[in-house]
Amino acid sequence: VTNPPTNSPPAGEFALIDWIRSRTPTGPNTLLGIGDDCAIIRTTPGNDWLVTTDMLMDGRHFVLDRDGPEAAGRKALAVNLSDIAAMAGTPVAATVSVALPKTHARTIAQGIHEGLSPLARRFNVDLVGGDTNGWDGPLVISVTLFGTCPPQGAVTRAGARPGDQIFVTGPLGGSLLGRHLHPEPRILEAKALIESVPIRAMIDVSDGLVSDLGHILEESGGLGAALDLSHIPIHEDARLMSQADQRSPLDHALNDGEDFELCFVVGPEEAMRLKAGLHPLVLHHVGEVRSEAGIRIRLADGSVRSIVGRGFDHLRP
Ligand code: ADP
Ligand code: MG
Repeated sequence: VTNPPTNSPPAGEFALIDWIRSRTPTGPNTLLGIGDDCAIIRTTPGNDWLVTTDMLMDGRHFVLDRDGPEAAGRKALAVNLSDIAAMAGTPVAATVSVALPKTHARTIAQGIHEGLSPLARRFNVDLVGGDTNGWDGPLVISVTLFGTCPPQGAVTRAGARPGDQIFVTGPLGGSLLGRHLHPEPRILEAKALIESVPIRAMIDVSDGLVSDLGHILEESGGLGAALDLSHIPIHEDARLMSQADQRSPLDHALNDGEDFELCFVVGPEEAMRLKAGLHPLVLHHVGEVRSEAGIRIRLADGSVRSIVGRGFDHLRP
């Protein structure tokens, strides 16, 4: 089917999502629709539900023959937990849908279940359903996760203001060396944070810091940011990868995906309180929100460079 050019979606994953979003009116039951880490569904006032869904595919998000079905199943739930954490929510229940390769279907299904169940128990997630299909294609797992909002209200990607301070919850980059398979969902960290200071905006780093911080800045009205190189926490894996591929450790830290740390923004006074350390979390203060659009970084020699996100895009050719 060929659409008339004026109606057809533009290239790129995020442009496609924007295209769908602009054609999807917000319904009467929707507090927050397409465009954030979770949607917020209104039931009765004060009892809002978070909903998020992610699909993992063999060869893209895991390699079944190398990683095994347990890791695939665990990751499928973990990435959804990460999106609930990004809203500072509490996970409640999940459905798990699978497209199983017909050869070894039962062993794979068992592995997925055994990988996912302990994580579900740890975060008090009830497994309440799903869908089982078999085919001659590769393994696909799709998890939909439901959660509740914190009493303070869910934290969205919108809400950052110029002068706000930007933090991340852990070191970044190089997750493809293996860390991406067992992300640690920052559910408890997000809860501890929102109980200590108001968080203005938050996202989980799934596509790379520059790309995901970019979503916060965009959703907050087209703002920009100034990052400081010396404050970016670079993971040891980013240094290891950079020895093999000639990309700098900083490039890995800024642009690799699947770190699943949280990137969040607080007001200047709240930033001081967080840095005073009156909470159990290790936080990295990486920069400041600015009114001028675009992300810039101050290098070691004091010079400032513009950076363009090269984070993960599923539809990039
Ligand atoms: P995340 O990385 O946090 O999982 P994504 O980048 O996958 O978020 O998606 C961004 C937003 O777009 C989310 O609100 C998601 O629900 C929505 N979205 C993604 N794909 C589609 C689609 N095909 N139809 C409707 N909404 C979509
Ligand atoms: Mg997310």
